[in-house]
Amino acid sequence: MEFATFADRAAAIEAEPADLEIVDLVRAVLEDADADLEIVARFVQGRVFPAWRSRTLDIGPNSCYEAIARAAGTNVGSDDVEDRLAEVGEIGEVAASYEFGGQQGLGAFTAGNDDSGSAGGAGDELTVREVFETLSELAAAEGSGSQDRKTDLLFGLFNRCSSEEARYLARLVLSEMRIGVGEGAVRDAISEAFDVPVEGVERALQVSNDYGEVARVARDEGLDGLDAMELEVGRPVQAMLAQAGTVTDALEEWEEAAVEWKYDGARIQLHHRPAESDETAPETGVFSRNMEDVTDALPEVVEYADETLEEPVILDGEVVAIDDDGAPLPFQEVLKRFRRKHDVEKVREDVTVRPVFFDCLHAGGDDLLEEPLTTRHDRLRAVLSDSDGPEVNAANIEGLSLLWRTDDPEEIESIDAEALEGGHEGIMLKNPESTYSPGRRGKHWRKRKPDVETLDCVVTGAEWGEGRRATFLGTFELSVRAGDDSEERRSSGSAVNSQTLETVGKVATGITDEKLEELTELLEPYIASEDGQEVDLEPEVVFEVGYEEIQTSPTYSSGYALRFPRFQAVRHDKDPEGADSLERLERLREA
Ligand code: AMP
Repeated sequence: MEFATFADRAAAIEAEPADLEIVDLVRAVLEDADADLEIVARFVQGRVFPAWRSRTLDIGPNSCYEAIARAAGTNVGSDDVEDRLAEVGEIGEVAASYEFGGQQGLGAFTAGNDDSGSAGGAGDELTVREVFETLSELAAAEGSGSQDRKTDLLFGLFNRCSSEEARYLARLVLSEMRIGVGEGAVRDAISEAFDVPVEGVERALQVSNDYGEVARVARDEGLDGLDAMELEVGRPVQAMLAQAGTVTDALEEWEEAAVEWKYDGARIQLHHRPAESDETAPETGVFSRNMEDVTDALPEVVEYADETLEEPVILDGEVVAIDDDGAPLPFQEVLKRFRRKHDVEKVREDVTVRPVFFDCLHAGGDDLLEEPLTTRHDRLRAVLSDSDGPEVNAANIEGLSLLWRTDDPEEIESIDAEALEGGHEGIMLKNPESTYSPGRRGKHWRKRKPDVETLDCVVTGAEWGEGRRATFLGTFELSVRAGDDSEERRSSGSAVNSQTLETVGKVATGITDEKLEELTELLEPYIASEDGQEVDLEPEVVFEVGYEEIQTSPTYSSGYALRFPRFQAVRHDKDPEGADSLERLERLREA
């Protein structure tokens, strides 16, 4: 296809406001693309390479301005291009405002110097294939002088462009195509052009991440060909994403939830192929959530894979920074390592990272996207040779992420407590039956919502712990003031005593051992009476607590219960008179 034809079609698409019409125009351009179908299917989306390839043109805007300026003639400088850009705000419009052609120089001949059989050279019609091949050559240029080489190549292309061609070339090069063609439009257009069901196209896109290849297979091999497309070790797929959600909703919808710790690190997808013989090396690739290749920045992950894995796999997980005891460090630490290109070994001495995996997309030749989560997790456990499971020790992580399957809110609460105590972000709730949907932010994965509102409650009781926590007070009974917030009450200065407080729940979650020790010291002086493990406390201390919901409940004297209460802080600045009232609780519940 001539690049001029592509530019015409792109202009028509850009001018079309209606989504359905856009799909139809994309369908037409795909049908007419013939041998250039793969390239055209990517170009319409503003992509030069498949989405899974980390490869980029690696050319800065300035080089592009310079290439445009040179092709535009001797009296145009890249400053002029930038000035125009500042005026009109869009590089395509700027490129289209010049007359190109006829500039002589090295680059004028290099573009078009390909094996496609076209004569090439200035004056010939530019084809989409020539554009693609020149941009591929440009992307591959490395080392000293490569930026000049890139600019030369680009100049060669602009020099052969009409204004309209230049508009879309400039946008393509700077990843600013923006003609209104989304991924859904290309998917639907492929389906319509080659008469294959949309679901088949969608699935093939998920496993291959390449609109070009999917379009070609749909045309040449139909649905059978699309169905035969599989995940490939080494080719990243889009990560499944999570929504915010509550334990209550998760259990209501799924009956049982898969519960995991939510690690505070960076998402990674590991692709590994073990060595085939003593002479060959294993191949490992690590990719970010955006499918960027981050292998070189994370040698620990590569070492872990080489040591542990014995079959080809694709695993989904998180890379977490840890301290000398193996406990997780905050997200900011991992950022010092992630994507780093230089001094990796040096920085590695300061910040250690470990991979932890929670999903298995492919193992030993089997694609597992369609399998339920629990099956994938079983496979993950086998792949990581973790048949017994690691010791359940939240503060020490590597390898397998544990998964609990439960319908018991109390158990979820204690998993959450353990996660927080171990220094993790909290928990993830997953539908145990759900398949893996690349790129989807669906309801099947939920990160527990952070608490939006908190309540200041008076601590009116507690329980002595068990085992290693026997000397600590835990499980604190929470109460609110029974009265209202009226001025009258405040001005009368009536004191809060146990008669004027109503219980609303107990909090045991979100408290570390260290904190428990501190709280025990704080509360012990106020013990009014003890009965076995149970302790009554004089109302003196106020806790700020988060919660998921306020429910009516016969269990507590207020008639309400906080669902999933979580300890946030001691309100040293407040006495019980300043704690929240039943009235506020009711107002929050209504809201
Ligand atoms: P967010 O970034 O807040 O949308 O939360 C989702 C992210 O949490 C995922 O993309 C992962 O990077 C991360 N994460 C940590 N632990 C898990 C886990 N057990 N399962 C899934 N995602 C996790």
